[in-house]
Amino acid sequence: MDLKSLIRDIPDFPKPGIVFRDITTLLNHPQGLRYTIDTLTAKCRDYGLSPDYIVGMESRGFLFGVPLAYQLEAGFIPVRKPGKLPAAVHSIEYDLEYGSDSLEIHQDAVASHHKVLIVDDLIATGGTAKATADLLEKIGCEVLGFAFIIELIDLGGREKLPDLPIITIIDY
Ligand code: IMP
Repeated sequence: MDLKSLIRDIPDFPKPGIVFRDITTLLNHPQGLRYTIDTLTAKCRDYGLSPDYIVGMESRGFLFGVPLAYQLEAGFIPVRKPGKLPAAVHSIEYDLEYGSDSLEIHQDAVASHHKVLIVDDLIATGGTAKATADLLEKIGCEVLGFAFIIELIDLGGREKLPDLPIITIIDY
């Protein structure tokens, strides 16, 4: 299936000069959505990945992380922007182009012996995925790999990530 044809390109969003890859049109397509989740699942199985948990980043990582967790019979753990999670959190700060941001995870969601797979809709510079991996490694759990629907190859995000399986479906 030509999944790229189901991604909508929005020029100059969120800032002039950026082409935003909009996955809402993929989610909106019943066969495309099913094919995406089935392909992610098959690729995880090809790599022999059987995580205890999928960790998905706010907010589009939730959309693909939960159905993948269901397929792999894993649990799902959200990683969120500051102040969104209600219970006690671990957090990590990371650098953005201008300034910094942080990500949080519930302290009681994951323990050091757990194996996790990190999932997001898209990898651009890799900063979000790297910060999430650092957060999980700080907690002591084992990161098995990463899965993204879309990779923006020219931004070189995968070079920031540890030497682990990186599953992607669509390249730009
Ligand atoms: P990175 O940290 O630079 O790799 O950016 C990845 C994060 O930004 C992910 O959480 C994406 O959801 C979001 N993102 C960046 N560019 C796009 C885009 O073109 N479409 C959808 N999400 C994007």
